[in-house]
Amino acid sequence: MRYKTHIVSSLTAGAGLSIMLNYPFHIGYVIGICFGSLLPDIDEPRSFIGRRSFGLSKYVKQRYGHRGITHSLFAWMLVSFVFLIYPSFLTIGISLGYLFHLIGDLFSIRSIPILAPFKPVRPTLPFTYKTGSFTEDILLYIFTFLLFYFVFVYGKLYPYLIQSTVELVSSIIHILMDYLKTISN
Ligand SMILES: [Zn+2]
Repeated sequence: MRYKTHIVSSLTAGAGLSIMLNYPFHIGYVIGICFGSLLPDIDEPRSFIGRRSFGLSKYVKQRYGHRGITHSLFAWMLVSFVFLIYPSFLTIGISLGYLFHLIGDLFSIRSIPILAPFKPVRPTLPFTYKTGSFTEDILLYIFTFLLFYFVFVYGKLYPYLIQSTVELVSSIIHILMDYLKTISN
């Protein structure tokens, strides 16, 4: 999957979970899902996140290869550990986004080494798509439609999303103002 499809499909799954579990669709949760859904591709220097990783992705690719260890449940558990230590909207979002990325790639023809580093299996699922293909374009359209439907129509998630965004922006402004005050004194 390309990065756009990862972000949109993960947000759609996150919105679906929010509706099902009555979990707040907080801006921190949304940002976490976006970031988490890009994170596994840190093993590819040409990926969206790899190009912004200050050389880290080159190192990871050399050591583990693309779609290696970062695309396993083991890596997901390591990332989710952060959520266990610092539970927050952001960290649960990162954990979920990461997991949704793995599920997205699991359905691709190339699949992922889901049980690395313990077993080198790459399960092939009955429904697959080729990364960057027309099928993936169609999937992107379907997920985009579903996301808007979940957020604005079916789940009505947007009022809380807007409210939490306003709160976040105003607290950032407050912190900046306080900071400017301290340095000007
Ligand atoms: Zn990937």
